[in-house]
Amino acid sequence: MTGTYITTTIPYVNARPHLGFALELVQADVLARYRRGNGEQVRFQTGTDDNSLKNVLAAQAAGVGVREFVDANAAAFTGLAEPLNLSVDDLIRTSSDPRHKEGVERFWKACAASGDLYRKHYEGLYCVGCEQFYASAELADGRCPDHGTVPDLVSEENWFFRLSRYAGQLRDLIQDGSLRIEPAERRNEVLGLIDGGLEDFSVSRGIERAHGWGIPVPGDPNQVIYVWWDALGNYLTALDYAVGGENLDRWWTGATRRVHLLGKGVLRFHAVYWPAMLLSAGQAVPTDIFVHGYLTENGRKISKSSGATVDPYALVASYGTDAVRWWLLREVPRGADADFTVERLIGRANDELANGIGNLVNRVVTMIHRYRAGRAPADRASAPDSEALDSAVRNAPGLIAGALEDFDFRRATEAVWQIADEANRYVNRARPWELAKAGDSATLDAVLSALLLACQAIGAHLAAFLPDAAARITGQCATDEAGLLPEPARLLPRIVPPLQDHSGASGHLSARALH
Ligand SMILES: [Zn+2]
Repeated sequence: MTGTYITTTIPYVNARPHLGFALELVQADVLARYRRGNGEQVRFQTGTDDNSLKNVLAAQAAGVGVREFVDANAAAFTGLAEPLNLSVDDLIRTSSDPRHKEGVERFWKACAASGDLYRKHYEGLYCVGCEQFYASAELADGRCPDHGTVPDLVSEENWFFRLSRYAGQLRDLIQDGSLRIEPAERRNEVLGLIDGGLEDFSVSRGIERAHGWGIPVPGDPNQVIYVWWDALGNYLTALDYAVGGENLDRWWTGATRRVHLLGKGVLRFHAVYWPAMLLSAGQAVPTDIFVHGYLTENGRKISKSSGATVDPYALVASYGTDAVRWWLLREVPRGADADFTVERLIGRANDELANGIGNLVNRVVTMIHRYRAGRAPADRASAPDSEALDSAVRNAPGLIAGALEDFDFRRATEAVWQIADEANRYVNRARPWELAKAGDSATLDAVLSALLLACQAIGAHLAAFLPDAAARITGQCATDEAGLLPEPARLLPRIVPPLQDHSGASGHLSARALH
């Protein structure tokens, strides 16, 4: 049995989710839906990283118990599956899922059995925001380059993982393509890290520093397993690694592809630490790592800690699932940063979904009702001057497949958009209303048939990207037993922009859709 295992990272739940994580979820969902649509076996997994010290500190700051705090925020992350229409197969919460703790313990023991875990006294500068140690040279004026905070000086006896032992194997796996890292600049970044020398890293902390939160080290209850070791383990523990068996065989060991999606800030953990840990434990490494960039909002970084957050729930409530997914897929360049504004979201949705695709389908079905009493015309062989439209329809499957193999969601959606764009041009060029007036029934049939075929192709290809809109388009363009199309409906209404400029004020987004 073969299949593809697709994961997102599991975010810290120290605050509610922002649009940047929605991007990762939607990208993973598209890959999962696309492959399922091609008849492949797919398992799409996400989850939450509950065991971070950041969560503990955020709960303390909020004056709430850690369990209560973590549960509430985790629900806000896992709850995104509904507004974003995600086809998640499984989600794992590291603090409460019974599969996780035992799996992490087994993974630890496997690495210990390989001789890769040892105790050492260590002093270092630790940024809780990053949950990692920094060398002095990596700091900016003594502060974390990411958070701008002064890291804590930590001095304690910890467990260390023998990362240095795996540098050569890692380099080989990346260079021969067994472990593919996209885009190429991220691959080069990882190779640079490896060539710069890999040092063993601390994989536990004293139970006091961890505030008693986390998974104790097997056989050493005064130490808690490093939160990244714990969190990375989710990719295996959710496959019942603790007990072995069918899921592990099917979705990891025997899977055709093991695909991790992640943001550029956690590349080192996923492309260096994690594969080395897997090699140590005698497990296969991921086949694909795709690294996306960060979103900004009106030029400011969106992050849980910066305060500048776009709430994906509020966006979907105001503009709908299709519009939000479309912006994330259409405007974010492959692996690069992008700036979000409400105006851009509305612009994309109105230009392409309402005016472009929605209007096209509506026009075509309306004309078939007007000129052919709703009966779908059969013969399109003699549609004149339709080469550009025909080739957009013919080329789309190959273009989409190639783009998604490259994790290029913008290029993939462009191929769908090209069909709509060419079809709209074709309507204006072929002028079906004049053919009807002139009584040229054969040409009219051919033109309408070519256009209906284009609309059906758009519905089919959009299924992975905009499942809701795709279902409506497909339903609108499908004939009943009598060969008749349904009455035309407005499938993708225009969004009326908010009257005032609410850019950046995510709590006040408001707009309504015209029906
Ligand atoms: Zn930091």
